Amino acid sequence: MKIAVLPGDGIGTEIVAEAVKVLNVLGLKFEMEQALVGGAAYEAHGHPLPESTLKLAQQADAVLFGAVGDWKYDKLDRPLRPEQAILGLRKHMGLFANFRPAICYEELVGASSLKPELIAGLDILIIRELTGDIYFGQPRGRRVATDGHFPGAEEAFDTMRYSRPEIERIAHVAFQAARKRSKKVTSVDKANVLETFQFWKDVVTEVHAQYPDVELQHMYVDNAAMQLVKAPKAFDVVVTGNMFGDILSDEASMLTGSIGMLPSASLNTNNQGLYEPSHGSAPDIAGKGVANPLATILSAAMMLRFSLNQPEAAERIEVAVKKVLAQGLRTPDIYSAGTTKVGTREMGEAVLKALG
Ligand code: NAD
Repeated sequence: MKIAVLPGDGIGTEIVAEAVKVLNVLGLKFEMEQALVGGAAYEAHGHPLPESTLKLAQQADAVLFGAVGDWKYDKLDRPLRPEQAILGLRKHMGLFANFRPAICYEELVGASSLKPELIAGLDILIIRELTGDIYFGQPRGRRVATDGHFPGAEEAFDTMRYSRPEIERIAHVAFQAARKRSKKVTSVDKANVLETFQFWKDVVTEVHAQYPDVELQHMYVDNAAMQLVKAPKAFDVVVTGNMFGDILSDEASMLTGSIGMLPSASLNTNNQGLYEPSHGSAPDIAGKGVANPLATILSAAMMLRFSLNQPEAAERIEVAVKKVLAQGLRTPDIYSAGTTKVGTREMGEAVLKALG
């Protein structure tokens, strides 16, 4: 089992170090190799995703990724900015399926901005298509309008598009994931307005015929955004396109209280995956030793389950995380009165201890 470890920038190095310690005590044999990515790679090699880092990632069974970015790179040309490394990895590794579970731990119910009764026991899974849609569609650019409301005016445009195979494969991923959960999929679209999403809805419905044991519901994205804060527990698996998924998965993540708790996985057709916390490099707290490492540790658990076929080890980690929360240990982002405030390293060590 080969793991490429790409800590990246800011708190990325601090939180990945804790996840690596956890992986090392599981009694499993991994080959782990570390490389630079993002701003750190730009400083050393003049590019956020050097050829050597990409090769390491492509040859590994899984990539454990921290986070990239810092405000100091905001003035660089777009292709050299740290965030381009993630887009490059997604593209070159074909990572089309993004899994973002939003789980509300019992001990953290008070950290959510929603009423406890709405989110206690919340466990939903957002599956976002990651390599298509308006984010990648061509043509795109700026030009002088020849029609529309203001012919002759400067305008910008993007292209929303999805092909049948792109929709089919993400729909299969969602139905198969639902089979391992409560067998319910909500497909989110905007079929009432967009041709692309009428096609999305039609294709998802066709694929559903192969999964008669799974319930399928269609929902417009505006309604889904509303229902997620009104009655989030009514959802189980949510599948949607790249742009709607980008927005809804962030909304869902905040239901649980802190972005510092949320893992994610991005998979290709071979189950090779990139595993990372849902948050960024948090330059505001980098180097202070206070970042929450749990999202990264839980991402490592997802990696064991999805790409490395080690479900027992994944569960051991998840149980250990629940244990440290039950012990009352909290990094500052999830701290509340009556609990014990700890730093990144102490939290990592507590998970190690809880693993037994
Ligand atoms: P961010 O997620 O880095 O931080 C948002 C807020 O959440 C900050 O207040 C931060 O301190 C807090 N936070 C984030 N992770 C935390 C953790 N583990 N523990 C405790 N608190 C945590 O988002 P941002 O500030 O908008 O972006 C900072 C940089 O990260 C930017 O350069 C952005 O482009 C980049 N970014 C990278 C990724 C990625 O690598 N996948 C994702 C999002 C943003």
